[in-house]
This record gives sequence, C-alpha cells and structure tokens, in this order.
Amino acid sequence: MKPVALIHYGEIGLKGKNIEFFKHRLRDNIRRSLSGVVKGEAVKLGHSRITIELSKNSSLEADVEKVTENVHQLEATLSSRLSKVFGIVYFGIGVECSLSVRSIEEVAAALLKRVKFQTFKVETKRGNKAFHLTSPEINAEVGAFLQKNFSSEVKLKDPDVTVYIEIGDRESYVYTRKLAGPGGLPVGCSGKVVALLSAGFDSPVASYQMMKRGAEVVFVHFHSYPFISKDSIDQARALAKVLTQFQYRSRIYVVPFAATQQEIVAKTPSPLRVILYRRMMVRIAEAVAKKEGAESLVTGESLGQVASQTLRNLRMIDEVAEFPILRPLISFDKNEIIRTSRAIGTFEISAAPYADCCSFMMPRSPSTWANKEELLEAEKPLDIQKLIDEALSNSQVEVLTY
Ligand code: ATP
Ligand code: MG
Repeated sequence: MKPVALIHYGEIGLKGKNIEFFKHRLRDNIRRSLSGVVKGEAVKLGHSRITIELSKNSSLEADVEKVTENVHQLEATLSSRLSKVFGIVYFGIGVECSLSVRSIEEVAAALLKRVKFQTFKVETKRGNKAFHLTSPEINAEVGAFLQKNFSSEVKLKDPDVTVYIEIGDRESYVYTRKLAGPGGLPVGCSGKVVALLSAGFDSPVASYQMMKRGAEVVFVHFHSYPFISKDSIDQARALAKVLTQFQYRSRIYVVPFAATQQEIVAKTPSPLRVILYRRMMVRIAEAVAKKEGAESLVTGESLGQVASQTLRNLRMIDEVAEFPILRPLISFDKNEIIRTSRAIGTFEISAAPYADCCSFMMPRSPSTWANKEELLEAEKPLDIQKLIDEALSNSQVEVLTY
C-alpha cells in the first residue's frame, strides 16, 4: 500500500501512432513541474494513466492509517503544480493497493475516516477487464461495506463524497477527490512560437493560449529605453516569469526599439506610425523566430480593440511577415481576456501602470484603414534591414526558469 497520484490525459489519447510521443512529453513535463518535490523516476507511464509514487518510506506499506494520513497533505502540495500541466484532464491523489476488494475496502474506509460526510457514492473504472467483478459489482460491494461501516447513505446524484476506484492490471487505486487539470496538450509537443510580449493584459493571455495547445513560447519584448523608463522591461520579465510556470523554462529577448521609433517619427506621416511600429516589431520578431527555429509569431491582438487592430490594419501587418502571425485572442472580448489573466496569475502585473513603447509617440489620429501603397511609400526613407539588424544585435536574451 502506498500513496500515489493518478493522472489522466484526454485528447492526447487520440493521437494514433504519435501517442507515445505525447505521453512521454506529458510525463517529462510532470517531472519538470514537480522537480524538487518528487523524484523524476517516481513519475511513471502506465497503460491509460500516469502514476506518481509518493511514498518516501517503504515501511509505511502495511499500515493503512499511516498511508492515508499523508494523502491530504500531498494533495495540497501537488495540486497547484499539477493543475498547471497542460495535457492533464484530471487527477486524483490517493492510495495504491492490491487487486482485491478487501484491500480496496480497507483503504476506502481509511480515506473516508478523514472526511466529513453523510452521503457518498462509489465510482469504479475497470481498466483490467480480467478482474473477476464488473464495475457495477464493485460499486455495489464496496458501497455496501462503507454504508455499514459509516452508517451513511448512498446518493448517486451530488453525494458529499465520491470514492473513486480504478482497477489496474496488477494493482488498484482509491481516491476521494477528482481534481481538474488544465486540459490542452503537453507544452513542447506542438513546436515553438515567438510571442510579442508587451506589459499589457493581452499578450500574456495569448501566450498562455498557445502554451495550452502545446507550443513552447519564446518571448520578445520591445522597449523604448532611454526615452521612457525600464519599467516595461521589468513588467514583461515578471509576466514571462509567471508564464514560465506552464513551460518550466523560457527565453525572453529584450529588444531596444527606441532607435526604430525615432526613425519612424522623424521620417513618416504620423497617422501611420502605430502600424509602422507594428510592422517593424513583426519583422524583428520574425528574425528572432528564424534564429530560434520557431514556426510562427503570436500577438495579443483582438479584432477592433484599437485602431491598429482593424481587419485592414491586421492585413497590413501580415504583409511584412513571411511566417504566419497567430492571434489567439482575435475573437475575445476584453472581459474574457481579463478573466483569463486573473485565472493564470498575470492580472496583477499587467494592471500595474507602465509606460508602453507604443503609447509613447502615439499619433493623435491613427489610421484605421491603411493601404499598402501609402505604407510602402512611408517606409521608403527607412533602412529597414539596418534597423532589424541593429535591434537584434543590441537585444539581450535572458533565460527564465521555473
Ligand atoms: P497588450 O495588452 O498585449 O499590450 P494591447 O491591447 O495593448 O495589447 P497593442 O498595444 O496594440 O494592443 O499591441 C498589440 C500587440 O502587439 C500586443 O498584444 C503584443 O503582442 C504586441 N506588442 C505591443 N507592444 C509590444 C511591446 N512593447 N513588446 C512586444 N510586443 C508588443
Ligand atoms: Mg499594449
């Protein structure tokens, strides 16, 4: 008998021949997320689940009281980390015991002793079809045992507590709380993207959405120091640090943008400035993407949110990029973005005031419907390649760890 975490994945189960790749990635990400808490080799790939052995001490094995005593504490330690590992649909922390109804009953009773309840139900998943009882039979037998022991009532709909039983090939598992994972796909299994990360609300949420679909995100932040303070850099770094909880290790490029902005302000018509800034950011970010072996760019743009985010202007931004620009928030309202930023822990940082490189030197009436010819004409006096090369060679790369 030993304490164990059971982890279930969903969508990655549908990946046909690639399933092994996804499962291994998920296992490795769980190991990284729990580093310092449990040993890597304790995280094991099973048939249809990943298990984490949580006993430090094998002498515990015979004593059900001792084993269950730790379960709630382990739950508290592990759940905040596991709830951030993409690819996990749900998990439970409980006890592994032998493949016998007696043993399951003993564990279930010990777990329930630590829970206040009046009504309960038993829910069994029988992965091992060779087991001599069916799931409903196990539910009935264990249910009757618990009912007698606790003089409590079985209630199938909304019970106070549910006893979850899983019948594996060589062992069974029992736990009493099913905890939600974040879903999605394991970070890293979809390849790499470069996200343009400001200090605002949107781009951190956009980065999060991409990580959720398995992309590893490299961050690029543009700053206008010395024209404005370094606050936005600290803020972007702090945001990247929060997001690193979901991918364990990140790279952030801190790119000086003042020289480029100065050129644009000096040499181009003011209504086009914001779009011209954005086109330059995209060109520089694409150079980073090539260096990093990324497949696309990501921004926090949302349709119609500001002047540079009309369909036409987005198209004019796309024109300068060879790589696709992914905009996961394109259809999100600001409220939805804010809600997600609260949930993932970036809200407080984004809400702090900061001077943005684009609010700085903003035109009074920005163009909402730029056309290609006027943009190309406006960019004629700029030495675009030189600006890209200089921005890149003056940028700093930092590594953030979890
Ligand atoms: P955000 O909340 O992400 O700052 P926003 O609503 O303020 O977005 P804009 O300022 O128009 O919108 O920026 C649009 C997108 O351009 C951002 O979501 C981000 O991806 C990128 N961007 C803007 N400023 C910067 C910057 N200083 N560094 C890196 N990317 C930026
Ligand atoms: Mg912004």
